[in-house]
Amino acid sequence: MTETDIAVLGAGPAGLACAAACAAQGLRVTNIAPNPEEPWSPTYGAWVDELDTLDDASVRECVEARWPNAQVALGAHGSKWIERGYARIDGDALQRLLLERCADVQFRRATVSSLTHDDAGATVHDAAGALRARVVIDATGHDPRFVSRPGPAPQHFQTAYGIRIEGDAPDGFVFMDFNHDHLGVEDQAPATFLYAQPLPNGQAFWEETSLAACPAVGFDVLRARLMRRLEHRGIRVDRVISEEHCLLPMDAPLPALNQRTVGFGAAAAFLHPASGYALVRTLSSALPLASALVSALSGPDGPRAASRAAWSTLWPTSRIRSRRLHQFGLYTLARMSPDRTRAFFASFFSLPTHSQAAFLADSLPPGRLAALMANLYSEAPPQVRWAMVTGGAAAGGSLFRALAGA
Ligand SMILES: Cc1cc2nc3c(=O)[nH]c(=O)nc-3n(C[C@H](O)[C@H](O)[C@H](O)COP(=O)(O)OP(=O)(O)OC[C@H]3O[C@@H](n4cnc5c(N)ncnc54)[C@H](O)[C@@H]3O)c2cc1C
Repeated sequence: MTETDIAVLGAGPAGLACAAACAAQGLRVTNIAPNPEEPWSPTYGAWVDELDTLDDASVRECVEARWPNAQVALGAHGSKWIERGYARIDGDALQRLLLERCADVQFRRATVSSLTHDDAGATVHDAAGALRARVVIDATGHDPRFVSRPGPAPQHFQTAYGIRIEGDAPDGFVFMDFNHDHLGVEDQAPATFLYAQPLPNGQAFWEETSLAACPAVGFDVLRARLMRRLEHRGIRVDRVISEEHCLLPMDAPLPALNQRTVGFGAAAAFLHPASGYALVRTLSSALPLASALVSALSGPDGPRAASRAAWSTLWPTSRIRSRRLHQFGLYTLARMSPDRTRAFFASFFSLPTHSQAAFLADSLPPGRLAALMANLYSEAPPQVRWAMVTGGAAAGGSLFRALAGA
């Protein structure tokens, strides 16, 4: 039977980043995925200041386009430019780079069907047979195959429908356009917004997004709203090059942190509950994860200790508490009317840019995050405060536990 130190399941950004990092630390790594070279379908974006936190110049260069600032439009609350750079990631370049870094990784083109753990490690089964591994990393995405995430199934979803086109482009990067003058009053709830990017060679990306809703806003609704918006503005579409459908569970439960299978990326619930972003966190966590595995595997309690060390590296208590606070924000926002949503974002984007960035970064310690949220509350107009209080009541337990450190 083939033996390896680390079996990584999945070849999305998480699987490849983690396999490359473990191989770079001298571990024997086997990656198992149906087709590791299959192009990634999502179009990834990131704030430039977050991307710049990555201690990896080659990854930072995997950018298709970047813009110096980002437009936010909020109906009657006006519009403004946020002075914060944003980048559209070149997914093909990033995938190529990570595959190159996996030169010493063994690839098995297969779907893993079962997995059992024992004292010495784990046995992984796929169509090609069985593989022994000391540690298994599940990077199989938002609906993970093996990582256990006890708790209620996700109920709040981010959905988006986007098109890459040849035709008219926006004047600059549009992060959030909540203008709704193309919709009748009865068609406005729940609020959705435009995210749009001018691209090189006469191309553009236009996407309609529902940030978080329960139940999810359907792709048919998003597509119809996008087309109405573009038509209303007289945007010319000469050719649709590709379409994007995005469905993200925003309140996936945390994985059980005492399990042997280690999760990574979306499988480990890395998705930021208030934004749906996960890429920068995934890329920045690969090396710390690999280092934790190497050092624990050399100790007496090998595989068991390695899983423990991995989980505490990925989900230290402070991150769990911050996540609960972000989830409180998610539940609050998901319950707001379209008008209040726009008023909420008017307050949010009136905060200093560094505070907006801190809230969205996913790395702020819980005490500072709570202070930031309290500041947002105190600056918000009365109707938004009321919506924050009443809407967040559904998540009161998570707020209390986050603040109490439970
Ligand atoms: C449309 C879309 C747009 C997004 N945009 C952004 C963005 O702009 N910025 C951002 O930060 N985040 C974004 N995200 C969120 C997140 O970054 C992505 O979902 C990201 O792809 C998650 O990476 P991952 O490697 O964890 O999982 P995935 O990319 O989903 O990869 C899962 C891998 O597991 C493999 N697999 C599945 N089952 C098995 C099995 N049984 N055995 C072996 N292999 C298996 C799959 O083939 C695949 O290779 C977006 C997500 C979507 C869906």
